[in-house]
Amino acid sequence: MEGDLTVRPGLQPPWWLDEADGLDDGGSAPPLEGDAAADVCIVGGGFTGLWTALALRAREPAARVVLLEAERCGAGPSGRNGGFLHGYWASVAETRGMFGAAGAVALARAGEKIIPAVRALGADVWLREGGMLMVSTAPTQDRAIDKAVTAAEQLGASEQAVPLDREQLAERISSSVFRRGVFWPEGATVQPARLVSALRRAVADAGIALHEGTRATGISSGVVTTARGRVRADAIVVAVNAAATGWRPVRRHVTNFGSYVVLTEPVPELLAEIGWTGGEAIVDGRMFLHYFRTTQDGRVLMGSGTGPIGFGGRVDARFTTDAATAARAERGLRRLLPGLSSARIERAWGGPIDVSADHLPFFGTVAGTSIHYGLGYSGHGVGPSWLGGQILASLATGRDDEWTQLPLATRRVPTLPPEPLKRLGGGLVRAAIIAREEAEEEGRRAGLGVRAVAAIPRVLRMQIGTR
Ligand SMILES: Cc1cc2nc3c(=O)[nH]c(=O)nc-3n(C[C@H](O)[C@H](O)[C@H](O)COP(=O)(O)OP(=O)(O)OC[C@H]3O[C@@H](n4cnc5c(N)ncnc54)[C@H](O)[C@@H]3O)c2cc1C
Repeated sequence: MEGDLTVRPGLQPPWWLDEADGLDDGGSAPPLEGDAAADVCIVGGGFTGLWTALALRAREPAARVVLLEAERCGAGPSGRNGGFLHGYWASVAETRGMFGAAGAVALARAGEKIIPAVRALGADVWLREGGMLMVSTAPTQDRAIDKAVTAAEQLGASEQAVPLDREQLAERISSSVFRRGVFWPEGATVQPARLVSALRRAVADAGIALHEGTRATGISSGVVTTARGRVRADAIVVAVNAAATGWRPVRRHVTNFGSYVVLTEPVPELLAEIGWTGGEAIVDGRMFLHYFRTTQDGRVLMGSGTGPIGFGGRVDARFTTDAATAARAERGLRRLLPGLSSARIERAWGGPIDVSADHLPFFGTVAGTSIHYGLGYSGHGVGPSWLGGQILASLATGRDDEWTQLPLATRRVPTLPPEPLKRLGGGLVRAAIIAREEAEEEGRRAGLGVRAVAAIPRVLRMQIGTR
């Protein structure tokens, strides 16, 4: 076994999928056979595609909508993520620099509608509105906390980012390695596969034609081709997430990183001992962050965004079977939460995250066509995919409205170097940052070479990492 790893990733499905198995998710969705016609054809049955379908139905009740999913809805990251559900108040330190104060606040206010939209589904998706925390576990991570607090203050929204000193933090969760933190009230957790299931059922109830086991093999203006059929559509929405990172219209703006989680057995008594009973979703202050949360049945999920970088848009086994990254997640669990040292790991799994050049999702239309796309969630798509659904539904119906005016749809997204530079350069910098952050947590100073390479993104004003 790899280092500290007790369960290998990829041997079993994500636990979420097993837990949600058997829920009423709207019945069968047979593969597409033959030709079909639609006003809008959506490709991809994750959160983005499903929310887009519902948003289209709300805008144009009579529209013919077809949704094609290569495997089963939720087979991708939507059914295997950490279940952190939030908008953009936690990102204002970054978005203010990119969009100015007004743009950052507009995006954060739009994001406030996400949790109510999930609540309005009326399904039991294990929605727990416990807020979100960022904790610092090394002096170098304090800066991220301070930046988040200061940015909210300067935007006149100090209630959205509340600083916590060591004692205040310990009232929410106690760990000997936590120095201080920031609490964002706007944050929740869900059981993501239950959310997929609820959305799938809502889509079926809305009369949308859903075809699973139907991979799009070709997309051109007005036509989506599959192995055994074809959909002619006035508008096409490409919502395939990581699978699009090699697609010409977007490939210079996004690349795939692996993210892995480990899940413990139920340990409610240990959670009570460390006082973590409020359901907060937590991240640390690393650039390649750890993310951790509890579940309704008292388990702890610990994730690490330090997985491998993809090449040329390929989504391969590196994103589901990388034992080294799952081992880092397990090491993170033991280090960050020493009170849970006896908790047994029951499952480990991973998936790709589509990291854009500025760490925010982007939405647009391929020039001269009615093909619309959205991706680049950078590991933060559970909530923002609801916004994505609104934007894509508006684009696909030719609207120019509050959604298409959001900076997620209007900004110019920076470009990344072409392959193989994207993979090689990114891999080098990633390894250096991980080494530097590990050294900092152990109270050591990384070597000069490591520090120099790790500093490259800052010097070039590039975003790297998964925070
Ligand atoms: C381990 C992990 C942890 C994460 N944790 C969090 C978290 O806690 N909070 C958060 O906000 N985000 C998290 N994320 C990110 C989040 O899961 C994604 O941003 C979100 O699920 C993206 O949804 P999507 O619908 O765009 O993509 P997907 O869920 O990938 O859906 C795309 C769908 O398209 C289908 N598809 C692909 N190609 C084709 C084709 N040619 N034809 C038809 N269908 C196709 C796929 O099968 C897939 O079902 C995490 C991701 C991972 C991997």
